[in-house]
Amino acid sequence: MRISPVVIVGAGIIGLAHAITAREHGHDVVVFERDGRALGASVRNFGTLWPIGCVPGAERAQALFGIERWAHLSEEAGFWMGRQGSLSLAYREEAWAVLQEFRDGVDDCTLLDADAVLRRFPAANPRGLRGAIYSAAEAVVHPASTLAALADYARRRGITIHFGTPVVKVHDEAVETSDGRRVPFQHLVIAAGDEMRLLFPEALAAAHVQRCRLQMMRTVPQPAAFDMGAVFVSDLTLCHYPAFKDCPSTPLLRARLERELPHHCDWGVHVIAAQHDDRTLTLGDSHEYGLDFDPDSHEGVEQLILDALGDFVDLPDPRIASRWHGVYLKSTVGETQVVLHPRERVTMVTAMGGLGMTLSWGLAARTVEGWRS
Ligand SMILES: Cc1cc2nc3c(=O)[nH]c(=O)nc-3n(C[C@H](O)[C@H](O)[C@H](O)COP(=O)(O)OP(=O)(O)OC[C@H]3O[C@@H](n4cnc5c(N)ncnc54)[C@H](O)[C@@H]3O)c2cc1C
Repeated sequence: MRISPVVIVGAGIIGLAHAITAREHGHDVVVFERDGRALGASVRNFGTLWPIGCVPGAERAQALFGIERWAHLSEEAGFWMGRQGSLSLAYREEAWAVLQEFRDGVDDCTLLDADAVLRRFPAANPRGLRGAIYSAAEAVVHPASTLAALADYARRRGITIHFGTPVVKVHDEAVETSDGRRVPFQHLVIAAGDEMRLLFPEALAAAHVQRCRLQMMRTVPQPAAFDMGAVFVSDLTLCHYPAFKDCPSTPLLRARLERELPHHCDWGVHVIAAQHDDRTLTLGDSHEYGLDFDPDSHEGVEQLILDALGDFVDLPDPRIASRWHGVYLKSTVGETQVVLHPRERVTMVTAMGGLGMTLSWGLAARTVEGWRS
């Protein structure tokens, strides 16, 4: 008897992580991607793999599992992965307190005073610096070339990928594509990014998720001598990721930032500076919530990002080579991943917020292992 394949909707990172993991577990896998290549959040992000943003415990373990999977796949699929770690810099005393509180709960991070930071990371801005946490776990990939390499690798592993083929309907045991094909499935994974409303709108509406638009940019390549040595973040970022939410000083830091940087807080600006192997820096971002967004990028928001960047790093060449925005779904109740089962054998994976690259492989493993029980 022929067994129907695992069908995946979407060839972003969540779709490809599920496809590759399912194949490793011996499933036949077919992926349908609406566009000619992945063009969603998975190719619009920083490419930072970010355990330090994850809540210590199960979520951090999932992220660290993901780092090992990324490292293995960078060898197998042939894409660049920079294991440079992260440097969370503190300029306000409340930020320094948050880092010290965070360090108490996590083993593999090093607390550095200002002198130690500047000796080891000369690109950090010394003005007002109190100290930093260096964590070796974080890494960077170049999103667009990585997603293309993963799709090629998936095909070499025997996964069928149909690009330019939207799935328009889910029947009881088959999906229907826009060209009228019906493809039966044993298991269906819907990983349609922010475009989840099409297939099970009621399930999504009940899941407490909202759309979020983020503004991003990339610099020209920096001079060869400029090597940051880590992905840099600073005070604003400590109020952004769930990892720091339980530190006693986080509300104090947030209150101070709201007083001192009200426009940054209104636009949800926090700044990550991620250096890639081509010496460019990916910079961002802002967070705008709603159902639909203006098509325009906002120059004022870009300036807010650059101003906040200037507080912790001086770029030798600050020229911006490209700008774009990305959209993701995010939980309104603080979940970092929302997994829905609108029907038997159908899994919808959504609302990975700003950690989808980091958490993708662990989530895919959990989904596929769940099919055995
Ligand atoms: C600006 C920005 C910065 C971020 N930075 C980071 C970061 O540094 N680290 C991190 O871990 N995470 C980061 N994230 C989050 C991460 O990028 C996302 O969580 C992740 O990419 C989501 O992957 P996905 O596969 O669900 O979505 P997507 O990449 O959006 O992929 C969904 C795919 O489904 C396809 N699709 C939709 N509908 C259909 C249909 N009906 N039929 C067929 N195909 C369909 C789409 O065309 C798309 O290719 C960031 C996100 C953004 C936007």
